[in-house]
Parts: sequence; structure tokens; C-alpha cells
Amino acid sequence: MYVTLCEVRYNSGMRPTYLEVNLSQLKQNLDNIRAKVAPAKVLVVLKANAYGHGVDGVAPFITPFADYIGVAIVEEGIHLRKMGITKPILVMGGTLREQLPDFLDYDLTLAASSLDLLTAVDQLAQSTRKQLKVHLKIDTGMERIGVREYEAEPLIEKSLACSQFVRIEGIFTHFANSEVSPSYIEETASGEEEEILRTDIVPASLQLERFQEVLSIYEKRSVPHPPIRHMANSGATLSLPESYYDMVRPGVLFYGVYPARDIEKTIDVKPAMTWKSKVVYSKVIKPGRSVSYGSLWHAEAETRIATIPCGYADGYFRRMTNQGRVIINGRSYPQVGRVCMDQFMTNVGADDVQVGDEVTLLGNGITPEELADWAGTNEYEVMTNISARVPRVFVGGVQ
Ligand SMILES: *Cc1c(COP(=O)(O)O)cnc(C)c1O
Repeated sequence: MYVTLCEVRYNSGMRPTYLEVNLSQLKQNLDNIRAKVAPAKVLVVLKANAYGHGVDGVAPFITPFADYIGVAIVEEGIHLRKMGITKPILVMGGTLREQLPDFLDYDLTLAASSLDLLTAVDQLAQSTRKQLKVHLKIDTGMERIGVREYEAEPLIEKSLACSQFVRIEGIFTHFANSEVSPSYIEETASGEEEEILRTDIVPASLQLERFQEVLSIYEKRSVPHPPIRHMANSGATLSLPESYYDMVRPGVLFYGVYPARDIEKTIDVKPAMTWKSKVVYSKVIKPGRSVSYGSLWHAEAETRIATIPCGYADGYFRRMTNQGRVIINGRSYPQVGRVCMDQFMTNVGADDVQVGDEVTLLGNGITPEELADWAGTNEYEVMTNISARVPRVFVGGVQ
């Protein structure tokens, strides 16, 4: 049974700066995704510390509701096995030959991204007489890892000839641009809006076609395709039902964030993380005094400055210097002066903000999109960048 923490209290040793993760919201997001994609299965992506949410709390809670688990690297798969997770786990990223024994020892599913890797793992499985599950990785336009659609035939041939120890359970590919439309609007020098057709991007429809081409190899040979064909990331889960096949792999969407600003929100999801802290120092400064390293901000008039015990070492980007905002006592205040490694300052004006007042850095109206804009990055990096120094507190799990 999963232990629910319904109340967040300060306990000695826990920082006042912490990330609250609402497990019920994650479950709701998963339920809503499932309702849209059924009967396709859902692979829950738990890579990168569960997109920063804290895999140690998210994994035990969510895995009973997942059909498959996805991680990026073998170490993440081993970590989940050591936690006692028994659901199938696909290691989606690239794998080195020397890492193959870990797949056998920890019952992890290999993304076979080259003929060499598939051959090597077949040999290893035979010599150790251990069973292994494999998903063939096809590259239809990402040019990252995988066998390109025009060279897939030998991979499939080899997969059909693998020993009894290797089970070819799946075949998959990954979108490069599922959330981007091939045209976009740009303002010209004269101020007019012009529609630009991007010819340099590989549209989702072309990748879908290429994947279909690979799958037709099975048809031509009158052999069954691997039982789990999958392709859709968050963008495609929202907008491209033709790409669902047997399973979808929505990452950021499961965490309640849309993969692009202009994408149609065909599934209702909400963020599950709230980043909180407490004012650790509060004082009024004189006009003309500067705040923080490099003196990048000066007080024009007497004003109150509140210090927050959170910095770029916690994942509050240094790039947000003089850009960010926080909420204290229900009001929004600007971050001022250089963000330091472990602290930053906010200008609260004439308001009575005192030591110990609760601060929200993300959530309660501050969206991951806003943080991404302030930091000049995307929502994915905002979430995955919240460092290990920030304790994760899990609330709202099912009893
Ligand atoms: C990370 C990842 C996903 C999830 O991507 P989102 O954009 O977060 O939905 C899906 N498939 C693969 C192979 C990935 O590496």
C-alpha cells in the first residue's frame, strides 16, 4: 500500500524550500489520457527523475495504473527495479554493448537501435540462457538513434531469426516535430504578418508514412508484426490519433503540461507540482542601494526586499535574473538582482512581508510556461532542472 502524506509539515532536517507533488493530479492526467487513447495502452515515462517530480514517490504510486514504464537510460531502469517495481520497463535511449548484461539481470526491455546491438544481445541471451524483451527502434526522421526506414529490412530479418531467449515484443519510432505545424506566422520588416512554410522540417505525416512502410515489411512477408507498435509522444497523443497504434508514450502531458503553446488541448491535464519556499530574511533598503552580485538592480526609492532561500543550484535558473516573479501572501512580486547559487531576492515594495511567510515559485498561478519564458527555455527543462537538493513532498495519493 502506498503511504499518503496528506499534510505538509516542517520536520527537522527538511528544507523550507521544497517541491510539492500532487499524486492525485497525476492519476487524473493519466485517466484522461487513457480515456482518449483507449484501447491503446499507455507507457508512463518516468525518465529524468519523473520529469523532476521525484521518481521515488511517483513510481510506486503510478506504476499499478501503467501498462508500461519508459526510462531513458539503463541506470534509471535499475533504480526502479531496486525499488521493487515489477512492471515492464523500456529503456528508450541508446545503449552501449557493455550495458547489455544489466538488461538481462534486471529484466529491462532493450530498444534495439542497430543490427549490431540486436546481434550482440541475441548472442548474450543465448550464452547466459536468460530471457530478454526487445523493441526494435526505427528512426523515421529524428536522426538520433535507430535504424532508418530504408535500412530496416536486415534488422527485421535478424529479429525474426533471433534465438528463443529474445522476445521481439515491440517496434517503435519517435517524432521530431509532432507538435509543430509546417507553417508559422512571422512579422516582416514592414510589420506585416507573413505565413512562412517550413520546408526544412520533417512533418509528422511523413514520419507516420515511413513507419507504416517499415510495418508493411511484415505484411509482405506474411509474418505477424511485433505485438506492441508505438510512436506517439505527448504532441501526437493530443493531435494525431493515427499514430496511437498499440501504445502511446506521453511524457510531459502526463505531468500536466502541454508540449507546445499553440497545440489543441484535446485532453484535459493540469500540472502536479508546486514549488514552495519561505522568506528567510526581510528588510527595507535605502534608495540607490543595489541588490546582489554585479549590482544589476538598484532601488529607486526606499523599498522592502525579501530574501528567498533558493537559487540556481536548486534549479531556479540564473537566467531568470530580473525576470522572474513569485507569489507571497497571495500577491505577485518581481525577482530582483542576480539569482545567486542558494538564494535570491524579491522586491515587495511597501508590503509587510516578513520572515517565515510562504513563497510560491511555481504553481498557484505561476505556470511552467512562464518560468520557461523568464529563463529562455522550455517547460521540460524547467521541471527536470529542479535539483536533488529540493526535497519532494508527495500529497494526495490514493489510500
Ligand atoms: C521522452 C520521450 C517521450 C516523451 O516525450 P514527451 O514529449 O514528453 O511526450 C516519448 N518517447 C521517447 C522515445 C522519449 O525519449
